[in-house]
Amino acid sequence: MIPVAAFEPQCMPDFAPLLERFDRKALDNNSGTVYGVWPDFTLAYANSEWFRFAAKNGCDMTSAAGSPLGGVILDAVSADLQPYYRSLFALAGIRDPRISVPLCHEYDCSSPTEYRRFAMHIYSLDDLKGYLVINSLLIQRPHAPGIAVRAPGDEEYVDMNGFFCQCSHCRRFRRNGPTERWDWIPQWVERQPSRTSHGLCRICFDYYYPKTPPD
Ligand SMILES: [Zn+2]
Repeated sequence: MIPVAAFEPQCMPDFAPLLERFDRKALDNNSGTVYGVWPDFTLAYANSEWFRFAAKNGCDMTSAAGSPLGGVILDAVSADLQPYYRSLFALAGIRDPRISVPLCHEYDCSSPTEYRRFAMHIYSLDDLKGYLVINSLLIQRPHAPGIAVRAPGDEEYVDMNGFFCQCSHCRRFRRNGPTERWDWIPQWVERQPSRTSHGLCRICFDYYYPKTPPD
């Protein structure tokens, strides 16, 4: 059980000046996760919802000092997606904030019972001294009727090495067969089978991770 105090916003003292142009209370109490990073992707600021989300999703970046600040946020992203996130932040960094809106990246992060779509806005701070990231929930609704509900242990999904393969992005599971097919299986999204590896389904790869990030 994570103590309530763990949901208090935290900010490195030398990162706070980078946030001065924003209303800190609005960031601290934002309904979506908000965090700040240094250019090397170490966490320097996190709002209350960030802590709540991390606790709910079993993401523990807490260091021995009792704070996740200083941890590398990319460590929480699967290795195959890290290059894309690096290029997204780089792209946000070359935008001139005086003439441009922050870079926006939309992504799916569904729960077992609900389809959820988020927007991630990346703000470059003070000539690339850091970045502020604000995640907003765009869509939340029950999954469409007819989404497959299968019992865990279904042999159709285990590969030759005994692993289930889940898409890192849309969280569907790969089904064996000559044609690539990925299914939404609520029980497994809620509780992954113990032998689950991660990859990218073809649709997510083509749509979200093109060779050049979206402008
Ligand atoms: Zn996918």
